Amino acid sequence: MRKTTAKHLTNDNEGIAAAVRFLNDGRLVAFATETVYGLGADARDGQAVARIYDAKGRPQFNPLIVHVQDFDTAQRYGVFDAQAAQLAAAFWPGPLTLVVPLATGHGLSPLVTAGLGTVGIRVPAHPLARQLLAAFDGPIAAPSANPSGRISPTTADHVLAGLSDRIDAVLDGGPCPVGLESTIVGGAPLALLRHGGLAQNDIEALSGPLAAAGPDIRAPGQLASHYAPR
Ligand code: AMP
Ligand code: MG
Repeated sequence: MRKTTAKHLTNDNEGIAAAVRFLNDGRLVAFATETVYGLGADARDGQAVARIYDAKGRPQFNPLIVHVQDFDTAQRYGVFDAQAAQLAAAFWPGPLTLVVPLATGHGLSPLVTAGLGTVGIRVPAHPLARQLLAAFDGPIAAPSANPSGRISPTTADHVLAGLSDRIDAVLDGGPCPVGLESTIVGGAPLALLRHGGLAQNDIEALSGPLAAAGPDIRAPGQLASHYAPR
């Protein structure tokens, strides 16, 4: 691991351009989303994605969420049935992650999905995250920008406090407006895999009652230890 101090990038064209250069070089850039700060890397670049797991100290069986700019782009990576498409139409951009089967020819690093046949995808609503995704024009794998087992960061300073010497940059979009991780649903029948920033009731108003996640723990983020602050 390189010993550096992460660059603090500002919320302007220059900051976004610098973030894109880092991503194109396979480096790690934390960035603001409406939920929490994400630790981003090019989701197609296995070495870059491996750096995320290293920097966080995250076990490689815990898959990462892929962030994309819109639903059309999401369909390159995942297969959305009618129900998933309906939820995407209703709640994207926003704090909802949909776990769906991988699309043929998706091009994502198998590390992103921890070798599963499914992928967690989200279109974030934060204007800075959206500008970054548009400028990068590719899928960004991004778990929360904290060392594994610590609390998820909602400011750039919070990111730097945990990861400054392990990442290349943080793109500062101010405090995260939601401050909670995304709600995750997936599977058939559709199940709630993780509680988060979108209320279960709002989803169920469209989907009907969500099943509880099975004992197979399809979303490792729901392990009790995931939220344990040191
Ligand atoms: P984080 O971004 O750190 O909040 O963690 C992402 C979480 O998304 C993981 O811990 C899983 O719970 C969930 N996730 C991502 N991809 C998948 C997938 N393919 N199947 C099930 N859960 C997933
Ligand atoms: Mg996390």
